Amino acid sequence: MNGTRVLVLNSGSSSVKYQLIDMHGGDRLAVGLVERIGEETSRLKHTPAGGGSREWSGPVADHDAALKAVAAELAGDGLGLDSPELAAIGHRVVHGGRRFTEPTVVDDAVLAEIERLIPVAPLHNPANLTGIRTAQQLRPDLPQVAVFDTAFHTTMPESAARYAIDVETADAHRVRRYGFHGTSHAYVSRETARLLGRAPEDVNVIVLHLGNGASASAVRGGRCVDTSMGLTPLEGLVMGTRSGDMDPAVIFHLMRVGEMSADEIDTLLNKRSGLIGLCGDNDMREIRRRVDAGDERARLAFDIYIHRLKKYIGAYSAVLGRVDAVAFTAGVGENSAPVREAAVAGLEGFGLAVDGELNAVRGDGARLISPAHARVAVAVVPTDEEMEIATQTYALVNDSGNLT
Ligand code: ADP
Repeated sequence: MNGTRVLVLNSGSSSVKYQLIDMHGGDRLAVGLVERIGEETSRLKHTPAGGGSREWSGPVADHDAALKAVAAELAGDGLGLDSPELAAIGHRVVHGGRRFTEPTVVDDAVLAEIERLIPVAPLHNPANLTGIRTAQQLRPDLPQVAVFDTAFHTTMPESAARYAIDVETADAHRVRRYGFHGTSHAYVSRETARLLGRAPEDVNVIVLHLGNGASASAVRGGRCVDTSMGLTPLEGLVMGTRSGDMDPAVIFHLMRVGEMSADEIDTLLNKRSGLIGLCGDNDMREIRRRVDAGDERARLAFDIYIHRLKKYIGAYSAVLGRVDAVAFTAGVGENSAPVREAAVAGLEGFGLAVDGELNAVRGDGARLISPAHARVAVAVVPTDEEMEIATQTYALVNDSGNLT
């Protein structure tokens, strides 16, 4: 048997998050991040297994320098990237279009396709590509595996994936609903089945991934049949800084009447809308604190957020026909009892309810928060995208005989 470790890299435009995981036992040997890459005050935080974080600040010019710094930190713990224990590097890639339905070992053709998708993922795919290319230079002999945020959603039927616009125009510009957060939706829907003691194939789940970005998905028997994000992550739920669903004519109106440019509206809808646009805060803890203090704008923002969430729970109940579980995950979903309570309040007709005491319990593991004997299980299921990327990467390199 060769290496059993997988390095997971999540390369953003100015950050790199990483985890080194031993797939025999699933131990995290090290986790960390480099942020503010390209600035004078870049910061690296590295935490080896067993604790004792190391942190330093200073200029990290680019992703190449960032990965070298990560490699040096790992080497300091005897976990260097030159180790024969390392089986592969798994990369989060945001947009895989229609072509990448599975995790994929990177070669030149794969790199070219990820590059071709930059027009539909201008913020994310370039950074993901840089991360892969830099890792290739560090370990050219090692399989680099791309795990796509869109892959889990490629099973959506055409009825859910197509917008009702002229087909030729849509196809010419690859306009369709791709969905994102797929790695999380895949992991959480499977873990929810496990929590219920049932096989994923037998269970229908609505997954609510509520982080700063937020998306819902309808998962039938382990396969995604609908999701709330679309061509880009802008569609769907109200998010920390994104509007989610809106009449598209708002954009023409702002162009014609508000004399705003496409770029200005892009920034407005992606960065200055959602919770932050509604009340000036995008952290749900702060919003709840303000609501409890009687702040009207925070209350309205919370109510709009919850109203949209409820609409998606209702819509996906209809899409699935039979719902076995609703699973809350990510920063807000895992931590905000008021959001979970409000999201299902009044949905008893759908078989949905939350037990106040169970909902109030804080914990790290997957847990049920619905009353005993409820028709639909309501669960909190912490997501673990890094573990899912590592699992998919390791399975692929083992299957294809690509192990070093
Ligand atoms: P992302 O990965 O999209 O950046 P996360 O899944 O880490 O986001 O979620 C971040 C968000 O989670 C924060 O913006 C905040 O609103 C929310 N959050 C984190 N902890 C709590 C908490 N204890 N209570 C309520 N909300 C929380």
